[in-house]
Amino acid sequence: MNPIAALYRLQEIDTTWDKIRRRILQLQKMTGGSSELVQMREQTRATEAELQKVRKEQQDAEAGSGSLAERIAESESLLMGGQVRNPKELEALQANVESMRRHKGALDDRSVEAMVKADEIGQRFATQTSSLDSQEEEWQTKQQAIDEEMQKRKKEYVYLKNVREEFVKSIDSKMLEQYEYLRGRKNGIAVAKLEDGSCTACHMQVPVGLIGSVRRGDELVACAACGRILFAA
Ligand SMILES: [Zn+2]
Repeated sequence: MNPIAALYRLQEIDTTWDKIRRRILQLQKMTGGSSELVQMREQTRATEAELQKVRKEQQDAEAGSGSLAERIAESESLLMGGQVRNPKELEALQANVESMRRHKGALDDRSVEAMVKADEIGQRFATQTSSLDSQEEEWQTKQQAIDEEMQKRKKEYVYLKNVREEFVKSIDSKMLEQYEYLRGRKNGIAVAKLEDGSCTACHMQVPVGLIGSVRRGDELVACAACGRILFAA
């Protein structure tokens, strides 16, 4: 391999290495929490709390109505039983029964309202729970795929690092310096292929007099237009 071909090969290694490095950074950003999922979890928890509250309201109303029903029955049996004869007492008892009935009616209404509401919230909760479950599962699968790819990319990264370290030993230090300099300033492309007499990086025609030197590949020939090192395959 002539020196310029070696530089071109080094550039291939570096380009792949850069791609892997960028991908690792991208994967790092994709790892961890999902704000969408956090929001869904919170929403589902809030619906569950709301459901419990309404169910409690329904239970309380039912319990209240039940105990009133007992007290109404007791008072009615007193009214019917004939033990209370005083008309004022009877009247008061009657009035009390009426009041308890009204109160019970209100509690029964409340219980029905709460039941309807609990039903509606329960359906919402079921929908949210099922979509949360599938999102959690999808997220798990995605995270697993990210982890697997990350392991693979890290191995590739280390492998290329070693390959590069070994490879640069064979390259002349002045040429390597020039290569690094250009790579930093020419958008990662320090070595450009010569094709049909043109530089493939900037598409300018290379003077015929230089093509022979480029083909020999034993010295640095720069493209007059873009400054990159020319390489003929
Ligand atoms: Zn050029």
